Amino acid sequence: MTTSPDEPQRPLSPDATGRVLDDVRAVNEQLLLAGMREQQLAEQLGRQLAFTTAITTSLGDGICVFDVAGRCTFVNPAAERLLDWTGDDLRGRLIGVIFPVQETPTTSGGSVPAPLLQVLHVGTPYRNEEALLVRRDGGTLPTAYSAAPMIADGQIVGAVVTFRDMSEVRRLQRVREEYLALISHDLRAPLTTIYGRAQLLVRRLTEQGMVRDAASAQLLVDSSRRMNMMLEDLVQRSRTDAAVEAQHRVVVDLVALVQQMLDQTIAPDERARVTFEAVPALLVRIDVMQIERVVVNLLTNALKFSRREQPIVVRVYEQGSEALIAVVDQGIGIAPEDLRHLFKKHYRAHAAEPITGNGLGLYSSWLSVAAHGGRLWAESVAGTGSTFIVALPLPV
Ligand code: ADP
Repeated sequence: MTTSPDEPQRPLSPDATGRVLDDVRAVNEQLLLAGMREQQLAEQLGRQLAFTTAITTSLGDGICVFDVAGRCTFVNPAAERLLDWTGDDLRGRLIGVIFPVQETPTTSGGSVPAPLLQVLHVGTPYRNEEALLVRRDGGTLPTAYSAAPMIADGQIVGAVVTFRDMSEVRRLQRVREEYLALISHDLRAPLTTIYGRAQLLVRRLTEQGMVRDAASAQLLVDSSRRMNMMLEDLVQRSRTDAAVEAQHRVVVDLVALVQQMLDQTIAPDERARVTFEAVPALLVRIDVMQIERVVVNLLTNALKFSRREQPIVVRVYEQGSEALIAVVDQGIGIAPEDLRHLFKKHYRAHAAEPITGNGLGLYSSWLSVAAHGGRLWAESVAGTGSTFIVALPLPV
């Protein structure tokens, strides 16, 4: 039934009035209950929020939360302090900007799709024990971080990254490393003399036709060379974990530096194998000790993984905005399935098994080059030789 505005309202019967009043009372009660529930929920939520805030605020580790698009939505005070950015600076930034990924190189010198995006897209957790985060002042902070997906109703809704300041750990690693380097250096000096004299002895004895004595003297040469490698090993082992240390960069001529490394590293009887091709000079800003070690690693490998009669070429040149060092050998080469893993810690190709080594040289070299903002990659055909290329950014 419809009523028009002109139609007079008929009074309700007492029964109908009672029913309406009962309905109104019931609705009021429900509204009251709903209000109380809402208040309870709000209080519960408030308590949970206070609890979570207390935890995230008091933690020494940094926490950053990202939405599914990879944009930062939350940072705790420790994250602000460690990164030296305010929450306002950080919120809205992309995950890959705050947590640049410096590992997982590919053989072509690039890097695989960021594992942090995998966290958001596939839900695979990711850990990086050797990350360098960039602080507001442009300095870097050595950290270890882990990223885990946040899942609600079976859907990935974002990611949470927790990270820890590793500066003190790295400092202690550096102390250990310096100590080992010192011991190794002191032991190497007399060893070099023994090695040189033993080589001379072998030559003299061979010239005089004393073949058996020459063979015994050759044992001296081999043993001292092995001992030298063991000492190098000792230093390498201590170094790898500390490769992302604070850097001491200076401007140097890369050509002169590499030339000097070749002179110091190559044994006199192997000198003729190595050709050096370079531009007249090329200035770079580097941590000299780290890059020296990279060159020595690549050169030692080239010598080690090729035969004595196979030549090696070392080139230093400029390309685009980078200074490049290429070490080219014609040795055993690297199979495609090995190329993919070559820069991982302790990785050694099957073909390299008979030759001594620990699989740390390339790993530490990669870390050192990456810490310079550079690239290191290998190109190779199994059985025909390998080329390792270091690309370092030129000073702007
Ligand atoms: P190591 O030489 O002590 O084994 P590296 O980290 O320097 O450790 O090298 C890792 C692996 O990479 C080697 O074991 C070898 O399989 C491969 N490799 C490195 N350089 C060369 C090269 N010039 N030719 C062939 N294989 C190489």
